Amino acid sequence: MNLADLHTHTNFSDGELSPVEIINEAINKKIKYLSITDHDTLSGYNKASKIIKDSYSKKIILIPGVEFSTSFEGSSIHLLGYFFDVNDIYLNGILKQLQLRRNEFAKYVLTNLNKEGFNINWGDLLVNVNGSLGRLHIAYAMQRKGIVKKVSDAFDLYLNKYRNSYPEKYEFNTAEIINLVNSAGGVCSIAHPHTVNNAKKIIPKLAKKGLLGIEVVENKKIYKDDKEFISMGLIKTAGSDFHRLGKNSYLGKNNLSEEEFIYFYSNAEKKLKGKIKWKF
Ligand SMILES: [Zn+2]
Ligand SMILES: [Zn+2]
Repeated sequence: MNLADLHTHTNFSDGELSPVEIINEAINKKIKYLSITDHDTLSGYNKASKIIKDSYSKKIILIPGVEFSTSFEGSSIHLLGYFFDVNDIYLNGILKQLQLRRNEFAKYVLTNLNKEGFNINWGDLLVNVNGSLGRLHIAYAMQRKGIVKKVSDAFDLYLNKYRNSYPEKYEFNTAEIINLVNSAGGVCSIAHPHTVNNAKKIIPKLAKKGLLGIEVVENKKIYKDDKEFISMGLIKTAGSDFHRLGKNSYLGKNNLSEEEFIYFYSNAEKKLKGKIKWKF
């Protein structure tokens, strides 16, 4: 059983496991094709890639990946990029800008929390941050400081509110990022489409703008019949969106078979007319 899990997070974004722990866990779960798709950073991927090279392990085939926060016609969209050149200058430049925007947003949240009378500082946020500082890190810090009881309260009571009131542009346009990834020799898939507002209106538009994949999440399917997205030229991708080990959270929870993965890859090759950067 050679499975593909194309959506995982390490502690370089908001996941708990380090790259080496993710690799070991993937081997345990019989995952052969693994993509580390940290939010707006390649640091976890780069670390994992080095570990695999140094160990001469052939058990895991690591797919270049990243999860971009984007927006399209007012909807927030997480976009998964695959198979691109990880050294592409433009792509790395955009990731750097996204990092800066994340930090700026976190500072805005801190200022507002302190205005509301809470005592929380930059150091409190940075505990456990290796790479991308995300809203989840802020939520954990708020929980540790006793500002909220549950992480979900941090979002419901503060983080969603601050996100809406944040005056700066936080995300890049989805179509712009699809072009960026295509130019870097890779393709994009839309992550957890069931969480996207107006998904059924937006997905056909993105299919016309170069989106290739659609992440199909068991029990959360937005198209009952795969034919509906196939007719738009979209290909199924899958992954666990793994963040931490738990009863209901494990690598391979959503996966592609080896055949399905190769089908996705060969369609990516076709779409990029042979200019795909990652080969295996
Ligand atoms: Zn996501
Ligand atoms: Zn994710």
